[in-house]
Amino acid sequence: MNFYDSEKMSDLLMNHGYATTDTQEDADLIIVNTCHIREKASEKLFSDLGRIKKIKDKKRLTVAVTGCVAQAEGEQISARAPFVDLITGPQSYHRLPEMLRKIANGKSISPLLEFMPNEKFDNLEYGKNKKGPTSFVSIQEGCDKFCTFCVVPYTRGAEFSRSISEIIDEVNNLTDHGVIEVTLLGQNVNSWHGVDYKGKERGLAYLINEISNIKKIKRIRYTTSHPLDMDEELILAHKNLKKLMPYLHLPVQSGSDKILNAMNRKHTAKDYIKIIDKIRKINPEIALSGDFIVGFPGETDKDFNDTIRLIKEVQYAQSYSFKYSERPGTPASVLDFQVPENEKRIRLEKLQEILFEQQEKYNSSFLGKEVEVLIEKTGGRDDQIMGRSQYMQSVYMNKNLGKIGEIKKVKISYAGKNSLKV
Ligand code: SAH
Ligand code: SF4
Repeated sequence: MNFYDSEKMSDLLMNHGYATTDTQEDADLIIVNTCHIREKASEKLFSDLGRIKKIKDKKRLTVAVTGCVAQAEGEQISARAPFVDLITGPQSYHRLPEMLRKIANGKSISPLLEFMPNEKFDNLEYGKNKKGPTSFVSIQEGCDKFCTFCVVPYTRGAEFSRSISEIIDEVNNLTDHGVIEVTLLGQNVNSWHGVDYKGKERGLAYLINEISNIKKIKRIRYTTSHPLDMDEELILAHKNLKKLMPYLHLPVQSGSDKILNAMNRKHTAKDYIKIIDKIRKINPEIALSGDFIVGFPGETDKDFNDTIRLIKEVQYAQSYSFKYSERPGTPASVLDFQVPENEKRIRLEKLQEILFEQQEKYNSSFLGKEVEVLIEKTGGRDDQIMGRSQYMQSVYMNKNLGKIGEIKKVKISYAGKNSLKV
């Protein structure tokens, strides 16, 4: 989502006379768009700002900090880095051009921290500078679920769904710029809801169907989903809607009911497995991915082993796993029995060993088989191009095999943990 937001900020500013540069030293304006989800992500801000300060010491430069660290720690940023000219939360960055004008006129600006997703989306410019055949489209923001470890409800605000017509307009606009694959984004994307043309309340499956009807769109994905919002209609869409790719990212966080309860996830490990079984029955070829947190306060060896058991039962194609990170202001941060850092590290290593093994095994099952790849960009080497299979795997191939924007059927001759090769 931050990637999407950054793109939107640059779209917005390009319409106000700015251009992008790859070299920080050349810039007149540097915007640091930040993530607050784990401590490691927010710490990066101050080391980045240290580097930027050195540039600002030598030339005229405007510095803005945007995103969730700006939202959560605006005052600390002003105090620790007084050379920052503008602090803007993730729901008010549409006001950047106006604020930058004021700064250019010598005014000082107090942090913009209001939650106004409606106004924000109304004021963004769509797809003007879009390059490449794939694009994110934010359809939902914020969260009302309040998992006890998570900052999102505080930094992104309450759940907000964009309207069907606004989303369809954005997708149509993107297709005019060559986009054929969209990934629908939301902190809880499957909690998206909207009203159709007849005034009927609809869920994500309906929206995906509407987007499927856009001829130029060939592939649709969505992320990130919450197990509680995985309704029957959405599960069925994985069988009925051919443009919906056979990939589902469904975080579970833990396999222990005690920990799930303490996390306020409002489902059990069994509930999660039931959803997975259902979706595999509907579409046996679906690739599954998940998020895991190890070392949540009070997690014992037994709880951790429950997570390992769940992972072994599900068999993931891809995964994201993290050490629990204490976030200021969240209910979990004041719980007793915080797990020592060293124990968290050991558990994460064990967990990842199993997850990465599953990932490698999954990818190896494609050896000698054909996958359909949407070619997205040039690969790491000059003679290479890369794209993604239906199942989200990165696939590398020789550039003679296709052009950016084409979907090609190719045969896999190498499979590693993180990628396939033709
Ligand atoms: N809405 C999604 C997840 C959004 S946050 C869901 O409910 O599943 C993305 C991921 O970051 C989470 O799934 C979680 O695994 C991780 N995460 C969030 N807060 C964290 C924390 N305090 N410590 C470690 N990982 C965290
Ligand atoms: Fe955070 Fe996801 Fe829980 Fe919302 S549902 S509080 S975004 S982890």
